[in-house]
Amino acid sequence: MPEKPKLAIYWAASCGGCEVAIVNLHEKILDVDAALDLMFCPCLMDTKKKDIEALPDGAITVTFYNGALRTDENVEMAHLLRRKSQILVAFGSCAKGGCIPALANFTSKDEMLKTIYIDNLSVENPKGIIPEGTTSLPGGKMSLPAMLGRVKHLSQEVEVDYYIPGCPPESQQIWNVIEVILSGDLPPKGSTIGCGSLTVCDECDRTKEDKRIQAFRRNYEFYPDPKTCLLEQGLLCMGIATRSGCGAPCTKANMPCTGCYGPPEGVSDQGAKMVAALGSVMDIGDTTGLSEEAIAGRVDNFLKSIPDYAGQFYKYTLASSILGGRVGR
Ligand code: SF4
Repeated sequence: MPEKPKLAIYWAASCGGCEVAIVNLHEKILDVDAALDLMFCPCLMDTKKKDIEALPDGAITVTFYNGALRTDENVEMAHLLRRKSQILVAFGSCAKGGCIPALANFTSKDEMLKTIYIDNLSVENPKGIIPEGTTSLPGGKMSLPAMLGRVKHLSQEVEVDYYIPGCPPESQQIWNVIEVILSGDLPPKGSTIGCGSLTVCDECDRTKEDKRIQAFRRNYEFYPDPKTCLLEQGLLCMGIATRSGCGAPCTKANMPCTGCYGPPEGVSDQGAKMVAALGSVMDIGDTTGLSEEAIAGRVDNFLKSIPDYAGQFYKYTLASSILGGRVGR
């Protein structure tokens, strides 16, 4: 019997949601198993790094690399899997744009570790121990991978062939991508696949009336009308700045889109796009005769109704954004 194409799935700095999305293929998993030889997936099976190192270069047909790059181990595995794979896919928003792990780039590594292990009220750590480096134990020495100073996305370290967005990617879209890969009819390298090219607003069936709002509200403050655009009801819905392809499950569940599919085709910075879009919904009243300073004050007041706007607008894309290299230390 001819050998099946080999599939590897690697889990870097991520939450495991990407693996759950693969499991959510349900019975389609059997089709994946029939078509591909899943030979590396640390959260499911016991293949070792040395097994991958022993393979000839290019022996793996396709690797789905999910997670951002937070440690030197993530970097080492990115280079190893790049070398051994014909097709390397940045799978999910962490690998594509840094996602939640990259929000750590708003501060320094040292400050982050201090917050987690020293200042954290739920941690008792009288000796102020921060786990890192090599620790001697009765049974031997244990080494932890070193943390990078900043979180990276995959293409900041190695060449990436394709990107699948989503936190996590929708399961049906994962299957669509597998079918495309198996067909051999691949899009140009560097493409974002398993998604649409428009915005979530384009696949959301809520009514938009070009209403303006005076301030944003939080989800818990009111029950939104289920048929009207959430942004126009004062909820910070990122649909206007987010790539289509998910089928808008969040807005169907009366929750605003948080932007996990990243920027739409042709938009390089999701946060900047969202900031621009705010101009079309912001109502700061009649500004006739007001000085520029007074107008700026009203805009500032409007923005105060957005909690943590950098974190909101760049939740999934900070590492790949125009801010990516310029925040934190
Ligand atoms: Fe739908 Fe949100 Fe777009 Fe409004 S802003 S149309 S709720 S996706």
